[in-house]
Amino acid sequence: MQYAYDYTRFYREKYAGIDLDGDWGGIPMVSKGEIAHGGISVISSKYYSRLGGLGMISDYTSGSTGECLEVHATEGEQRKSLLSLWLYRKKHYGIHPGSKLCYFYTFRDGRRDAFYEYRKNGLGFSKDMLREEHLEEIYDRMYGFEPRWLLLQPGIAMVLARYVFESGLEPIPTVEYIELTGEMFSEEQRRFISRAFHAPVASQYGCNEVGTIAYECPFGNLHVMEHNVYVETVKDGRINEEGEDGNILVTAKNQLVMPFIRYDTGDVGRICHVACQCGKPGPVLELSGARRNDLVTLEGGEMVSANLFCRVFQAIAWRIEGRIFQYRVEQFDSKQFVVSIATDEKEEMLEGLFRDLIGETELKDASFRFVFAKYLLPEERTGKFQFFTNYSI
Ligand SMILES: [Zn+2]
Repeated sequence: MQYAYDYTRFYREKYAGIDLDGDWGGIPMVSKGEIAHGGISVISSKYYSRLGGLGMISDYTSGSTGECLEVHATEGEQRKSLLSLWLYRKKHYGIHPGSKLCYFYTFRDGRRDAFYEYRKNGLGFSKDMLREEHLEEIYDRMYGFEPRWLLLQPGIAMVLARYVFESGLEPIPTVEYIELTGEMFSEEQRRFISRAFHAPVASQYGCNEVGTIAYECPFGNLHVMEHNVYVETVKDGRINEEGEDGNILVTAKNQLVMPFIRYDTGDVGRICHVACQCGKPGPVLELSGARRNDLVTLEGGEMVSANLFCRVFQAIAWRIEGRIFQYRVEQFDSKQFVVSIATDEKEEMLEGLFRDLIGETELKDASFRFVFAKYLLPEERTGKFQFFTNYSI
C-alpha cells in the first residue's frame, strides 16, 4: 500500500487525506473500472521506461461488464506469483513446470486464425475452434501429444468429457491431473470430468490481474495462496467476520509494476479457517456460485442474485436419473428468459421440473423459452461460458 502510494499517481490521488497508518478497513477499495480508466497512472513510475520492453509481460483481461484492462508485470513477478501454485501442483499431483500440458486459449493478437499452437511443453487450442465438427481432431492431437495434465475451463472440460464418453473413446492414458479454472462448476460436473479422463480434478481460482488467488487441495478445500495475495471479504464497506458472505477483495503481494490494493474481484464468497487434512494452515475460500454482476432483474426493477438458477438446477439434478451437462440462462427483459440446456434427460420432463421449481421463486410470473443443444460452447466474444447473462440492463 505504501509502495503504491509512493510510486503511482492513481493511488496517491485515491489515498489523499487517508491515514495510511490507520485501520486497514479505512483504506479505499479499488474497482476494475477505476484501474481500466487509470491508464499510465496505475503503473509504478519506477517501471514507466520498461513497459513493453525486455523481461516485461502484458496481458489483456476483459470483464463481463465490458471493461478491458491491460495488465503489466515483470517476468520475475509473474514467476513469483505462480510459485506457491507450482509447489502445490507438485506436492499433490506430481505436476511440475516441465510436465506436458494441453490448454485452450482465447483469440489474441496475431493468433486469431491459428487452430492450435505447439510450444515447448504445451499444446494449445483456440477456443474459436471448439465446435462439434472439430472435436475429433482436437482429441486426436491431444492424445498424440501425450500431455500429463490439462488446464481447462469447466465448460470446455465438460464438452471434451462428453465427447470421450459418448464416442466410447479411451481416456488419454498419459493424463494424470486436470485443473479447472475461470468459472464455477458443480460437484456433478467435477465427478463427470474426473470419470471421463480417469484423473483427479482440482479447482484453481484466480484472475489475470493478480494471478492465483486460491487452489484446491485433494480434500476439496480452496486454500488461499498467501504468498501471492492477501484476501478479505467485505460487505457494505465493512470487513467481514469469518464465514460471512461478501465481496472478495485481493491485495497482490508480488506486483510492483502495477499494484493491486484492496482490488474488488467482482466475485462473492466467504473466508473460513478449517483444520484441513492436507495439513495446510491458513484461510480457505468458499465461493458463491454467481459473480456479483450476475444479477437477475425482477419485475419492478429489483435485482436478485443469479444463484437462484444454480439452486433450481441443483434441485433438478437431484430429481432426475439423467444428467444436465451444462446450462445457460439469458434474460432479455424483466419477464423474458431463454434457457439453454445440454442434457441426456427427456426434454419435456426437464422443462416441467424447471417450471415447477421456478414457480416457487421470485420469477414465478416470468416466461421461459427452452433451447436444447448437444453442447453449449463458449461465447464468441469473450471465450467465456457465462451461465447467466442479463441483456435487459
Ligand atoms: Zn487442504
